[in-house]
Amino acid sequence: MNGVRTISILGSTGSIGTSALSVVEHANAQSPDTVFEIDTLTGGQNAELLIKQARQFKPKCVVIADPDKREHVQDALSGLNTEVSAGADAIEEVARRPVDRLLAAIVGISGLPSTLAAVEAGNSVALANKESMVCAGPLLNRIAADREVAIVPTDSEHNAMFQVMERREDVERIILTASGGPFRTASREELKTVTPRRALAHPRWDMGQKISIDSATLFNKGLELIEACYLFDLPEDQIEVVVHPQSILHSAVAYRDGSVLAQMGVPDMRTPIAHALTWPDRREPTPVDRLDLVALSQLDFEALDAKKFPAVELSRQAIRVGKGAPIALNCANEGAVAAFLTGQCGFLDISWIVETVLERFLNGPMSCEDCENLEAILAIQAEAERLTGALLDEVKSQKQERTA
Ligand code: NAD
Ligand code: MG
Repeated sequence: MNGVRTISILGSTGSIGTSALSVVEHANAQSPDTVFEIDTLTGGQNAELLIKQARQFKPKCVVIADPDKREHVQDALSGLNTEVSAGADAIEEVARRPVDRLLAAIVGISGLPSTLAAVEAGNSVALANKESMVCAGPLLNRIAADREVAIVPTDSEHNAMFQVMERREDVERIILTASGGPFRTASREELKTVTPRRALAHPRWDMGQKISIDSATLFNKGLELIEACYLFDLPEDQIEVVVHPQSILHSAVAYRDGSVLAQMGVPDMRTPIAHALTWPDRREPTPVDRLDLVALSQLDFEALDAKKFPAVELSRQAIRVGKGAPIALNCANEGAVAAFLTGQCGFLDISWIVETVLERFLNGPMSCEDCENLEAILAIQAEAERLTGALLDEVKSQKQERTA
């Protein structure tokens, strides 16, 4: 595509959102012409950052998820020609505005309605919000095929696979790499005492809170495995997870002839974001550090310790069952991570909660239901949240017994 690209960023105040705006700023500064024009920016709670971004990038629309902050944002932007609205419905509405590409960068299943709205409206989506694909892969794929719109994977691993994906029928397997997270070398005993502060300190990537905890439990890799199954239409046993602590080789595709094509780069999300925003072009320079293989000298790979980190195995189980199981797994994880971050449960409780919710869900009446529309998916979300809430109550009463 030539000329200016119009993009919208849902979740612009987050880690992915701010990285995307850094890509936009750099590309526009490097070129005599405008490369990117921003149609819409949306944020959840951080009104000050959203205001700052709007003043700098002058979007046509701004949405703040928190309705209490609408007036403040509106007042602050009153001198600009920017429409300000608030709330979840407003985010869905702006997702339908026609753009060249929309970056879906809201965290969690709360990003699903807007991702779906964007695809339904015929917008090509750069998909960072992996929970959307995990919970609604078949639905998103069907609508994207109907509307003939591209979903461009933006998660670094899936973007890597996408870049090296040739003919799907020639693929033997996918190699999904994992950094191993901050507790790769910790013992299971040490994991019992992990605090949110320690879990949030990732050795390679600087990310939002939820994905940082997911990286520590390896549920991020589990969600990515499900995401890859849906994005590339592969069964889970054709996806191998390999731990690669340096996070340089972002994933690979192995072909029937023995060739393995991998994508590499320094661990900086601005590379996959730039690719996803400009694909099929690859023209815009990014401000990321360049890869120096000699300085790096070595790349390490090791097997995943499935006993210490059950997340990937649980995710395999969920995608093998399909239907609502990945949704139940995802929503149990979201609930457990939020509880861990607020001190309501321990680090190891996260995988125990997900495992137990998945088991109860699979033995319950909703496990056979199809999830071919948003309503059905949200009903499974509600059921998984109910099951998770009940388990958190159990954790709480156990704690009280211990301290009594
Ligand atoms: P983040 O928490 O830093 O940012 C999330 C954004 O979504 C913020 O703008 C926040 O205000 C907004 N938001 C949160 N809840 C919302 C709600 N209910 N309604 C509307 N807006 C809401 O998260 P992040 O790390 O940027 O991750 C975003 C997504 O990208 C996640 O799905 C994550 O898994 C994925 N991802 C992130 C990275 C990374 O490096 N951070 C890498 C790969 C994939
Ligand atoms: Mg990733």
